[in-house]
Order: sequence, then C-alpha cells, then structure tokens
Amino acid sequence: MTLVMKFGGTSVGSAQAMRETADLIQNCLADWGQVVVVASAMGTKPVKVTDLLLQGANTAAAGDGTTYLQTAADLRQIHHQTINDLLADSPEQEAVTADIERFIERFEDLCRAVLVLGELSPRALDAIGGMGEQMSVRLLAAYLRHIGQPAEAIDATELIVTDDVFLSATPLMAATTEKVEGRIRPLLAQNIIPIITGFIGATADGVTTTLGRGGSDFSGAILGQALAAAEVWIWTDVDGVMSADPRLVETARSISRLTYREVSELAYYGARVLHPKTMRPCISHNIPLRIKNTFNPDHPGTVIVPDEQAVNGGIKAVTAIENLSLVTIEGKGMIGVPGIAARAFGAVARTNVSVLLISQASSEQSICFAAPEAATDGVIAALEEAFAEELTRQDIDSIWAWRPVSIVTIVGAGMRGTPGIAGRIFTALGENQVNVVAIAQGSSECSISLVADAEDTAVAVSHIHNLIVTTSKSG
Ligand code: ASP
Repeated sequence: MTLVMKFGGTSVGSAQAMRETADLIQNCLADWGQVVVVASAMGTKPVKVTDLLLQGANTAAAGDGTTYLQTAADLRQIHHQTINDLLADSPEQEAVTADIERFIERFEDLCRAVLVLGELSPRALDAIGGMGEQMSVRLLAAYLRHIGQPAEAIDATELIVTDDVFLSATPLMAATTEKVEGRIRPLLAQNIIPIITGFIGATADGVTTTLGRGGSDFSGAILGQALAAAEVWIWTDVDGVMSADPRLVETARSISRLTYREVSELAYYGARVLHPKTMRPCISHNIPLRIKNTFNPDHPGTVIVPDEQAVNGGIKAVTAIENLSLVTIEGKGMIGVPGIAARAFGAVARTNVSVLLISQASSEQSICFAAPEAATDGVIAALEEAFAEELTRQDIDSIWAWRPVSIVTIVGAGMRGTPGIAGRIFTALGENQVNVVAIAQGSSECSISLVADAEDTAVAVSHIHNLIVTTSKSG
C-alpha cells in the first residue's frame, strides 16, 4: 500500500527536525511498505527559505543590488550549517554541498538579471521561489541515504504538469499521472523512497511553475491521486483539526473525522486548516487525507473524507472571525423593489471588499452583511453613492454599521436533520448574555453563523464549544 506524506517547512527546518522527519519516514515505511515523501522548503525560524528567495527577487526588481547578495549569504549559512550537522564526514556531504551551491549561484544569477532588467515576471518569480524545495529535498534524501535508507530527491517539474498560470498553476492530471507512473513506480519497486519537491510543477514545455503559496499540501494531494495512494498524510504541529482555537478555548480537542464540506466551511470561516482546493484531488478520488502531528505521531489526527461519509448528529467545531462590521441598509421604501440587493452588492464589489455573510429579513426592510472592519467606511461611502436618490427620497432611511463584531460559525454536517441544535446554541448564548446581532444558516445545514459583539467573542465560542461534548457521539 502506498502512503504519500507531506512535510512542511518546520519539519525540515533544521538538522534536528530533519533527523526526526527521517525517523518518521522510516517508521511509516515499516508499516506501509511504500512511502512517497513531499517536502517544503526549509522553514527555519524566524525566516522561511521561500520568503527569503522571494524577498531577494523583489528587492532586486526594485533596483536594490545588495539585499539579494545578503539573502544568498543567508541561504548558504542555513543550508551549509544543516549539511555540516547532518552529514559531516559522510560520502554524501560533498555532492549535496555542490548541489546546494549550484542553486544558490543560480539564485544570484537570476536576481542579477532581474536587477539589470528592472523587471520581475511571474515566470521568473516561480523559477526563483521554487528553489527552496529543490534544495531541501536534496538534503533530506542525502541524509536518508547516509543513515542507510535508499532515497532519491526528485523535482516535481519532472512529475506535475500544469497550465502556465504562473504563481498559481493548476495541475493537468492525465499528463501528471502518466509522468508519475513512469518515474515513481520503478523507484517504489526498488524500495527507494522518492523525496519530491512540494510547491512546484512545470508546464508541458518544462517551464517551472508554482501552485501558489503554501502549495506543498496541494502537491501531496496531487501525487496521492496520481499514485492512487491508500492515504495522504499532511504532517503539522497539532493533533489534526481542532474543535476550536485552543487560544480561545482551553478544552479544544482534535476532531477524529471531518467531511470535505465541513473543512471547507471551517477554512472559509477563519480556521487554520487546509485550503479546499488542496483537498479536492484526494476527496474526489476517495483517498483519505489525514492531518497528523509530528510531535505526537502516534495520535491518529484528523481524517478528511468525502461528504457522503458524514456521520455523527452534532456540532463538530466552532470558529470565529474577528475585526468585522455588520453593515445595514434599511428603509421602508425597499419593500418589494427589485434589484436593491444586486445594486448594493455591486457597489460593495466595486470597492474590492469580500462579503462574508449576508442576512435579509423577510419584511425586506433591511439587508445586512458582514465586511472587514477596516473597509467599512469605504463600503458605506460606496453604498451612499449608489443609493443617493433613494436616500434623498427616504426610500432608504439609513446605511450604517455595527462595529466591531465577530462572526462565530458552528460547523457539523450531522446537524442536518438533528432538530434542536440551533435552539441549544441560542439558549446557551442567551444564558451567558451574548448579544446576537444577526444569524445565517446555509441550506446545506452544515454550518450556522451568527454575528456577535466583538467583546462577546470568547464567551460565545467557549459556551458553544461546551455543547460539542453533549451533542456529538464521537470525535
Ligand atoms: N514553500 C512554499 C511556501 O512557503 C510552499 C509550502 O511551504 O507549502 O509557500
């Protein structure tokens, strides 16, 4: 059975982290038989290698001829120190040192070209930004070989074929699957662990692209689909997806199982979880995607499954987005007038503000929506301009904002068809003096969102969280 595992920047961020990652890889190999590894660029604290590379390129484009040279020195220091710690006196040391040096020299060459041209194209940015992964996989593979574990570093430019939308490319799965089969299967058959760069791919012509910042999770899922893996694991530093932000709720715990839609709702409403796009290749091919903790590898973490596999009749998680305002347009002259909502949201869209939640009372006397607090004044000004005539005629009485507020979202696919959950939520909030300003529930019944005064956020989240224990049968 093939297991695809993705390790983020901190898991390869130092010699010690690489040692622990190598241990995990070997343990999983013993359990699974075949393991494919995807790795991010080194994420040393406080700097991430990807950030350094991009900063070097951007400063060169702005005409700064010294920062990228300092960046190159920093990159040398980070990588060489790790090589020295891991591979001192190993036959691997010389080759991998030369490899890394080749990339850093190329980084300098490209930045010099950017400096001279005074121009940085998305294509050049991808070529530069992806080098962090190209270096980290070479180092990790060399270390694995050094400890006697056959491994080979592979650039995903050889595997993941994408369109040419630089900085945010989309994989072309048929071509990708063919390349992955041809290149990765033979290695697995020889018991060699492929250590593959996350984040990058290449167009059909072989030009390097990237899948967007944080794209290594996506790489893991793409390779999982291409290999028809039994599972894809994303290693992080927490026990999977938590039922609430542990900074707000002490009793937050890991959720054993979530559906794709539940995770998407959580991501939309502010939780630090996987991007929905990242999960799609696995979910649409029925490959369980598991989020696990490198510091607690025996913990099963959270498994993400297709929506049809939703179980459990209760609340799974509660999350909050803060620093918002609730903008309200109200007036009796709006009743039965078509097009008010379209014009309102057209005006908001022209200010480039994304609306997070909308609620309209059935009397049609008011429409309200949540927007980032910082953008509120601009949004109100745009609405006043769009409805200038209605305001003069007093068909619309006022456009105003309640601020600051938070959106608190309660997620759980099993809430569908379980009566009484909304009642329990609002009773708990009422009993604890939380002032609920607006409510929205999607027809999927996968989430209920409410808007509360900002100062009530922590109380609302923790009291709703208490209900998780009483409404869920598992996880
Ligand atoms: N290294 C890339 C980034 O920092 C991709 C990743 O880590 O997922 O965005």
